[in-house]
Amino acid sequence: MRSVVTFDWVPVTNIDFLRTLFVQDIPFDFILPVVELPTGKLLSNPDIETIARNLGWITKPRNVEYDVSIFGAGPAGLSAAVYAASEGLSTVLVEREAIGGQAGTSSRIENYLGFPNGITGTELAERARQQAVKFGVDILLIRESIKAAFVDSKIHVDLIDGSTIIAKANISATGVIYRKLDLNDEDKYLDLGVYYGAGSSEAALCANEHVFIVGGGNSAGQAALNFCKHAKKVTMVIRGSGLEATLSYYLLKRIQTVNNIEVLFDSKITALHGNGALQEITITNSVMQTSTNYPTRFVFVCIGGKPNTRWAENTGIVRDAAGYLVTGADLLKSPFANDWKPTFTPDFLQTSIPSCFAAGDIRHDSVKRVASAVGEGAMAVTFVHHFLHKHY
Ligand SMILES: Cc1cc2nc3c(=O)[nH]c(=O)nc-3n(C[C@H](O)[C@H](O)[C@H](O)COP(=O)(O)OP(=O)(O)OC[C@H]3O[C@@H](n4cnc5c(N)ncnc54)[C@H](O)[C@@H]3O)c2cc1C
Repeated sequence: MRSVVTFDWVPVTNIDFLRTLFVQDIPFDFILPVVELPTGKLLSNPDIETIARNLGWITKPRNVEYDVSIFGAGPAGLSAAVYAASEGLSTVLVEREAIGGQAGTSSRIENYLGFPNGITGTELAERARQQAVKFGVDILLIRESIKAAFVDSKIHVDLIDGSTIIAKANISATGVIYRKLDLNDEDKYLDLGVYYGAGSSEAALCANEHVFIVGGGNSAGQAALNFCKHAKKVTMVIRGSGLEATLSYYLLKRIQTVNNIEVLFDSKITALHGNGALQEITITNSVMQTSTNYPTRFVFVCIGGKPNTRWAENTGIVRDAAGYLVTGADLLKSPFANDWKPTFTPDFLQTSIPSCFAAGDIRHDSVKRVASAVGEGAMAVTFVHHFLHKHY
């Protein structure tokens, strides 16, 4: 589904039934699940990489060295790839999972310019993939970048399969991964009642609903103040016994004055229930040792995200305390100015290593929207041109 491959899922209860599904014999040592490819080839209990390899998706890089390497094929990386290749740069795009990133997991993006009826994340990503391929981008899927090093200003990135990609410039667009509730069936309700982060676009969907927001930080507080204008009631679910330590004072004061926001302290969601979409949740209070069920169709999880920037460790790229890449003018301000020795004035999306640029959610203080990620991907290519023009 994430990669726009249509498939049938047939539950199999016994081996005799399995044999009726295929024309050819199933070898006796086969283990469920069995995957039949469009060619008729059968795979026994394959992992994602085996399926991708058999679909011909895992390819070797065509070049030893590229003008620009782009890591992460979410909206920012895809956009950067399309603009870079369409402007004549030899371009490789490396993705550890599936095309589309977080946006690829969204069932409908309603606020992206040009799609008045919305578009599914997978469709948007697939269109971008086709555009990138048309312009000659080398796309390497199911390859994770694990370590980066800068040698003679070129970036050398080791991939998990043991290969190395070399490029004159690099755009890092490895995004964030949202923290989850860690509950059984959580993935089942993704976008069907459970949402990560909470944007203004979702608020209008919640008219007259009882909405639950998990988290007590500023993003949760802002979301509560936004949702309370539309929803019948907003309940913030927080593990701690107060909000003072986690929420800015001005948000706290405003929340305390709004009638339709309640806060459940010492609480966490311990179960999700529903037939298809979310219908009910269980909240457990750790002090009272009680569990209560609440009907709801909307849970927004605002417990922060983790940037995918482990690859940047020991590279000299300045990151903030949470791990986001710091770029542009922020690098010259406190506290980041002390973390490197400025030898150049960084462009807006340039990191502390001149040949390395960052775009999208991975950036310190980024907007965390599809449109801004796409915009930054395109802008980063302009800065790559400036860099290449100056140094090659
Ligand atoms: C469920 C959901 C719904 C959303 N809905 C909306 C919406 O309606 N409107 C909106 O504007 N925004 C929405 N957002 C936010 C939006 O999707 C993100 O802001 C956007 O996807 C950020 O794009 P990005 O390219 O910066 O990063 P990401 O989308 O996070 O993509 C990063 C990519 O990098 C890959 N990667 C990570 N580490 C490595 C590595 N080491 N090597 C190679 N690849 C790596 C990841 O697998 C991923 O594919 C939604 C987010 C979620 C989770």
